[in-house]
Amino acid sequence: MKLDLERQEHGRSELPIEGDLDLGLGDGRPERATLRGTILVDNVESRFLLGGILTAAGRAECGRCLGAFDFLWDVPLEIVVLRDVDTDEGEGDSLVIRQATGEVDLTDALRESAVLAFPLAPVCRPDCRGLCPRCGIDRNTGTCDCADEDIDPRWEGLP
Ligand SMILES: [Zn+2]
Ligand SMILES: [Zn+2]
Repeated sequence: MKLDLERQEHGRSELPIEGDLDLGLGDGRPERATLRGTILVDNVESRFLLGGILTAAGRAECGRCLGAFDFLWDVPLEIVVLRDVDTDEGEGDSLVIRQATGEVDLTDALRESAVLAFPLAPVCRPDCRGLCPRCGIDRNTGTCDCADEDIDPRWEGLP
């Protein structure tokens, strides 16, 4: 996943991208993801602005039922490549890469973008019923006798 600085047209162009990333997240979040989409490249003066929204796909754990599922999420890009490597200037919240010539390896910036965009607790489907908080049964595939008692344990024993 590279951007060849020598071959970019002036103005806006599109860079199709597809590749695997080692996210190394763990803890129910994807170890790896496949990134796909089109990066919009604006070549202006001494900088390249990389934008657009890519799609990442990986194995994640459902925040409700804890089952593993294939999850897709949007990865908005805000990356700036500064060809003036001596400048201190930043670009707001954008990820900054300083490189004057040649091919820019976008892997690290894309990994960071994908990690930042990963939601807090994705669910396997919008109507996932989750686990019973008492006995732990998966309510998508089974029922239990405690399923109807939705009493918050903190209120038990109060008059
Ligand atoms: Zn679920
Ligand atoms: Zn139960």
